[in-house]
Amino acid sequence: MSGHSTTSMRLAQQQNQTLWIILAGVATGAGGLLAGDLGGALIGAAASAIAAWALLGIDHGLPATITRMRERHARLQHGIATLNDVRTLQRGVFEVSAELVGCVEEADARTRFVAAMRRYWDCDSADLLVWERGSWRGLGGTLAGQPPMLDQPVQLPLATGGDLVLDLSPGVSGQAALVLHRARLQPSLARCLPDEQLAVAETLRGQLTLSLRRVMLYGELQALARVDPLTATHRRWYGEQRLKELVDSGEVVAVAMVDIDFFKRVNDQHGHAAGDQVLAAVGRTLVAGLRLNDLVCRWGGEEFLLILPETPPDGALLVAERLRAAVAALNDLPMAVTVSIGVASCAQDDTHFEVVARADEALYEAKADGRNRVIVANTTGTSESRQIRRQSRRERTQTIAR
Ligand code: GH3
Ligand code: MG
Ligand code: MG
Repeated sequence: MSGHSTTSMRLAQQQNQTLWIILAGVATGAGGLLAGDLGGALIGAAASAIAAWALLGIDHGLPATITRMRERHARLQHGIATLNDVRTLQRGVFEVSAELVGCVEEADARTRFVAAMRRYWDCDSADLLVWERGSWRGLGGTLAGQPPMLDQPVQLPLATGGDLVLDLSPGVSGQAALVLHRARLQPSLARCLPDEQLAVAETLRGQLTLSLRRVMLYGELQALARVDPLTATHRRWYGEQRLKELVDSGEVVAVAMVDIDFFKRVNDQHGHAAGDQVLAAVGRTLVAGLRLNDLVCRWGGEEFLLILPETPPDGALLVAERLRAAVAALNDLPMAVTVSIGVASCAQDDTHFEVVARADEALYEAKADGRNRVIVANTTGTSESRQIRRQSRRERTQTIAR
């Protein structure tokens, strides 16, 4: 039973009791008069008057009391609703934080950040941007809108709709931002005042900033793990992984195994520091001579594997010959160096191991044929076809080799 109806019953009981006192007082007064007992009559009349006054008082006070109690009840209900809203918001913010812990890949970050924000603000499109080398770079896709003005940590959208901008810079402001274009409040924030909306946006900004920091650090770690520090080319594991992806996807891909000729002599005659200098220079020359989607990795000590996607065999031969000539032309090294190169193209049903093995065999032939030259491997690797190709390759080698 509600507090309100309990109070009403209690008031009704009091009214009944008061009526009985009035009736008893009237009866006592009348009895006193009839019996000629003036004292009894006066006592009865006084009791009736006091009870009647009390009854009037109850009648007058009742509506005001009920109104007051209703107001208090409404205030309590509003307080409980507010507490529930706050609890729901807090739970949502904790859930966002738990969901973002697993976000480390740069490619996923924008989608996951926008999903977190969509609990509170819907939007037409979104950009996640970082300031790099003098310009904005969009993470997870091309930019949908103009880069924002980052003059405050949080810019809420106008009531008519506009951009919601969060500055996600981990240190100095203006280095990273999330922009929700044409952002609109979700029902979860509809009851919140602007100050409360700002507080929610501030909390989310903190979480997304941390999460973006994690994504960027993860990217830096991955880059460090991918790159060979001496030659600034990729490491072998990464080259193998990329080659496997390309071969498995059935792409036309060629590889070239590059080995510095008589490199031991460089070390022996000029020392290991000079050897390192030569290695770095050869690495730079190979990278500089290739397209952006080609890949150079350091396969072993003084061996590099070139991975050339979408490159037919004759194209791969041209590329390899150009790089061979570029290395031979290097003139700022402790001593002149040359490279030998074995080229192989991926045939149907080849594994990435097989295509590398064929390039390796061609490289050994280039060494055996006198070094500083390019040899193209046959496509099947069978000894019969190797014999046939060897003749034509000799002819070609003579024209390619200096
Ligand atoms: P070839 O023409 O037959 O390839 O002869 P090569 O001397 O180049 O080949 P070899 O395999 O005999 O020697 C490779 C040398 O590369 C031996 C090794 O000490 C050197 N080397 C491997 N890694 C590094 C490195 O990181 N720095 C330096 N300075 N030398 C290295
Ligand atoms: Mg070698
Ligand atoms: Mg060598």
